[in-house]
Amino acid sequence: MRGNIEPFAEKIWLSSPTMHNGEELKYIAEAYETNWMSTIGENINEAERLASEKTGRKYAVALSSGTAALHMAVKLAGVKRGDRIFCSDLTFAATVNPVVYEGGIPVFIDTEYDTWNIDPAALEKAFELYPDVKVLVAAHLYGTPCKAKEIQEICDRHGAIIIEDAAESLGATYKDKQTGTLGKYSAISFNGNKIITGSSGGMLLTDDEEAAKKVRKWSTQSRENAAWYQHEETGYNYRMSNVIAGVVRGQFPYLEEHIAQKKAIYKRYEEGLKGLPIKMNPYDAENSEPNFWLSCLLINPENMCRQVRGECDELYISESGKSCPAEILETLKKYNAEGRPIWKPMHMQPIYRMNEFITREGSGRAKTNAYIAGDALGKDGKPLDVGMDIFHRGLCLPSDNKMTAEQQEVIIEIIKRCFE
Ligand SMILES: *Cc1c(COP(=O)(O)O)cnc(C)c1O
Repeated sequence: MRGNIEPFAEKIWLSSPTMHNGEELKYIAEAYETNWMSTIGENINEAERLASEKTGRKYAVALSSGTAALHMAVKLAGVKRGDRIFCSDLTFAATVNPVVYEGGIPVFIDTEYDTWNIDPAALEKAFELYPDVKVLVAAHLYGTPCKAKEIQEICDRHGAIIIEDAAESLGATYKDKQTGTLGKYSAISFNGNKIITGSSGGMLLTDDEEAAKKVRKWSTQSRENAAWYQHEETGYNYRMSNVIAGVVRGQFPYLEEHIAQKKAIYKRYEEGLKGLPIKMNPYDAENSEPNFWLSCLLINPENMCRQVRGECDELYISESGKSCPAEILETLKKYNAEGRPIWKPMHMQPIYRMNEFITREGSGRAKTNAYIAGDALGKDGKPLDVGMDIFHRGLCLPSDNKMTAEQQEVIIEIIKRCFE
């Protein structure tokens, strides 16, 4: 494809909600017509049933968001004020904020290049430094399962439990098991940009009946079984609405279709970007099948033009044969397509910068403190840590399942031209 490229008439989104043939609307209308406009009702029961059926998990509790589900998981894990909790570093802040709600102190574990998730070697190092830690919060970034077996073995050896953040990975499998079943307590999300959506909403998944019961109680204001409002525990207003649950219920039958569309997008990028000095976001094809929620690319170090990032801004210098995330994202935007930088690692965030951060070599904080004005490379020219390196060189591509193959070809051409 040569010649002039026109901006897209309609914006190509990173990942936007996709509704189907009115099924979602039918369940919303049912709730409306029967006056079940509440946090109880048939849609909630059915959405929970569908989630446990799909994942193979015994119990699913429908909540107002994935963040609420993670908060309930942190409470179930018994996290107390001052407890150190190991957490994914390259993830969305909602993975770790619930730890802080309960007074826990997140300790961030560096990332590995194979799946862009928690590095088992860094986790092993973390337990060497803090053998008493009892909880790990582990995410599956962009729908790619983490190395769950290695991570579980390490946690078992140290008597720690896993809270699994499967918000981005619903439908992805690891050794033929669904994500959402790999932690003692797991969270999924139905936020608007996820693989299926309720417009918002989330669920806590577990095989532990007692735990599920507790979350049902806590999430509905912790009412005791009495005629009046009787309370023995702190309560939360975290239950999913029956209207939202109608959308979730209507979306579940389309999960596999969405995954197939996302996979086709990933494969088209993989094919179309061949020959460029980039790699797609990787996964362990032998042991896992991602849901391909977002397609990403990582530019080879030799082909990065100069790019510096401040707290909220960035600069780059264009160079022939090279490019950088800032240039590609800016160019996509010019053509009315939405990409996004890689999620900025937690240990680089102003709010968590003073927390501990552990790499394969040990405490990575000294290196983090050496991080000046967005330069992800140390004096020796090597990356300071894996998460920072992926943030520096990577980006999320437009991955909307309503994008046509023709539109995607244009996006691929736009990216190619960034390297010319
Ligand atoms: C979206 C997301 C969440 C939070 O889910 P919400 O339903 O938006 O509260 C948590 N963790 C990760 C990794 C996410 O992407």
